[in-house]
Amino acid sequence: MDSSALPKSPQRANPNILITGTPGTGKTTTAEMVALAAELKKITVGDLVKERKLHDGYNDDMDTYWLNEDKVVDEMEAMMADGGMCIDFHTCGFFPERWFDLVVVLRADTKKVYDRLEARGYKQNKISENVECEIMQVVLDEAHESYKPELILELQSNTVEDMEENVEKIARRVDEFRRKHAQKL
Ligand code: ADP
Repeated sequence: MDSSALPKSPQRANPNILITGTPGTGKTTTAEMVALAAELKKITVGDLVKERKLHDGYNDDMDTYWLNEDKVVDEMEAMMADGGMCIDFHTCGFFPERWFDLVVVLRADTKKVYDRLEARGYKQNKISENVECEIMQVVLDEAHESYKPELILELQSNTVEDMEENVEKIARRVDEFRRKHAQKL
């Protein structure tokens, strides 16, 4: 997709970017690098959920928290209002569409996802569920159900070179957004 297809967001001088994808596709690492390269503020939503208890307890079977989507949206609303945020999370459909100017869906080969989650010490059932999720492109489908096609950028994240290219691509979109906003003033 050409960068000229960036959606209009007249109120915000800085874009909000969502980086989503199956766990292990590289969201958090990519978001950190994008935040540095493009001078955005980063929120790893998974950390926010834990720190501010935006959940309904712990799911022992899946070794994860039961997400309380309403609490997450309420907590983040003020943070997103002025733009300039780079957030990452493994699911994306419950965020308000109006928050985002770019939705990046990271993808990775099954073997990469498997190895990264194994290295993280995930239980076998959690690894299998996530690998299956990546094969079935669950997050990509969710993004397409929730956001306009021109907002979505699907990127492969298998190698360090992929990651560096992805960061550059996203940072260019941020520049483009800022330029367009400045022209409108
Ligand atoms: P996520 O946030 O999607 O769960 P992380 O950013 O935590 O994924 O990445 C999981 C692991 O995989 C980390 O050790 C990270 O350094 C590594 N990793 C992620 N993306 C890549 C990539 N494109 N190339 C090499 N290693 C990667």
